[in-house]
Formats: sequence, structure tokens, C-alpha cells
Amino acid sequence: MLISCPHCGPRDLAEFSYQGDATRTRPEPASTDTKAWHDYVYTRPNPAGPHHEYWQHAGGCRAHLLIVRDTLSHEIHSVALARSANASGARA
Ligand SMILES: [Zn+2]
Repeated sequence: MLISCPHCGPRDLAEFSYQGDATRTRPEPASTDTKAWHDYVYTRPNPAGPHHEYWQHAGGCRAHLLIVRDTLSHEIHSVALARSANASGARA
């Protein structure tokens, strides 16, 4: 599988590391809502289809990326720098 880094171009998957689900919202740090924290830490969705994920080009420019990847086919729909895009894929 190739991921096209915005800085480096198409690179092999082995150069990237998965950083997590980009759709999750962390509770406020001072929140004492244990259910919200439990859900944030332990409850993981298992979506089928396009999914927003954070990846890092650890073996290259080390940029953090927001990637939309189809979890069924592993097709990459879009790649953007994480700092310039939000979880919906729209650029800020
Ligand atoms: Zn790169």
C-alpha cells in the first residue's frame, strides 16, 4: 500500500505509523465524567468504509497526516497535513 505524503510523494506503508482515530473527541481535561472518559479510552468503533485516521510519516519527513482510508478496501481517499485539516477532512 502506498501513501502519498504531501511533502515526500508516494511512499510505502512501512514508512508510516498509525496514530489513531481522528474522529474521537477528548473530554475536557478537568472533566470528572467517568463514562465520557471510559468511552474515550476504551470504547472503539469498528467502522466499515471511509474512516478518518491520523498517521505519521515516521520514516520520512515526520509530518502528522489526516488520512481518509476505506477500512474495507484500504483505498486511500485523501491525505492532508493534520495541522491544516480537521477530522471532517475540510481544510481550516
Ligand atoms: Zn513525508
